[in-house]
Amino acid sequence: MKKIGIVGGGQLGKMMILDAKKMDYYFVILDPTKNCPAHSIADEHIVASFDDEDAMLLLAQSVDVVTYEFEHISVKALEMMEKQGTPVYPSSETLKHIQNKYYQKEWLRKHGIPVPDFRAVETIEDIEQVANEFGYPFVLKTCTGGYDGKGNAVIHVKEEIKEGYEALGAGQLPLIVERFVPFVKEISVLVCQSLTGQVEVFPIAENIHKNSILDETLVPASLSKQSEEMALQIAKEVTKVFHAIGMLCIELFLTQDGQVLVNELAPRPHNSGHYTIEGCYTSQYENHIRAILGLPLGNTELIRPTVMKNLIGTTNGKANLHGVEKAYQSKNAKIHIYGKEEVKVGRKMGHITVTATTLEEALQEARYVHKILYFSDQES
Ligand code: ADP
Repeated sequence: MKKIGIVGGGQLGKMMILDAKKMDYYFVILDPTKNCPAHSIADEHIVASFDDEDAMLLLAQSVDVVTYEFEHISVKALEMMEKQGTPVYPSSETLKHIQNKYYQKEWLRKHGIPVPDFRAVETIEDIEQVANEFGYPFVLKTCTGGYDGKGNAVIHVKEEIKEGYEALGAGQLPLIVERFVPFVKEISVLVCQSLTGQVEVFPIAENIHKNSILDETLVPASLSKQSEEMALQIAKEVTKVFHAIGMLCIELFLTQDGQVLVNELAPRPHNSGHYTIEGCYTSQYENHIRAILGLPLGNTELIRPTVMKNLIGTTNGKANLHGVEKAYQSKNAKIHIYGKEEVKVGRKMGHITVTATTLEEALQEARYVHKILYFSDQES
């Protein structure tokens, strides 16, 4: 029986295990939180911090192949695992080029893949100088460690520069200034490449964010044929130039004049691909596991229109879910709860997926169910 190690035991790791248990694979996770989402279904759990190199090596020794569910982990630790003889996918080399947004964008630009204009900056003076060139507004971003918009600040006027710079660590972390893209749509393309060389692309997802956190994913995305072809072409090119094995998520901006620009990459299954569990013949999680084991990939086609809506925390405290009985009266709703012990404002706690005959119906039902479900520290 194949043994798979996952660095990270959050919801993405949990969904990988849920799908791959159909094939009876054995899972060892590494995560510092004892009761993390994947804990209850992993075969073994190494409770350790992500920068504990000994624990990472122990994980590698315990399994046939290692993968990860988030990209803010040590590339050096992945290199050590590989040197020790356990393959890691996506490889340490792939992660090295993706982890830091500056290097990621440089690599994309070098390969002729369209990205918003950007510059590396260190000081307030650097930022002011680039602002003079790019104009306002612009986006200041930390190169590492960002998620759900937490490493970003949109700067509208010169007077906001100092505040933005300080909010992002006052130069403690490397920074870039990026030209603001007045996009009309955000979309993502999920691509999977197996060790066999087979590449499969999932249907393009249209993503709606609220406060920089993904709120809804609608599939199929409503796009012109030309934009769709450009997005698919870019996604295949990106997969090739980063030598990405397993799932790769390419987040893109679509502009008014029909341009498609890469916003950022995630070398792993992605929140905007949750819809594939019910929406596609094969989910992103199953294909990720097949890919890193060198197996043929499954059919990524859409079965019918699908909407995914995230359940995001609106309060802080113990996480008790309310409304399930009423929500399940909606026949098509599939409810996923990650099992986080604490709810926090802005924290991803679960999601709802609805597939229906039309996208409109799916959207209505997902929004209806979303209104019913909530977390609070009151027991029901
Ligand atoms: P994170 O790594 O935290 O997900 P992103 O760089 O993807 O951060 O940015 C989060 C959101 O901020 C994006 O989904 C988009 O809505 C907005 N955003 C990011 N970069 C730009 C940009 N250059 N122009 C306009 N909006 C942007």
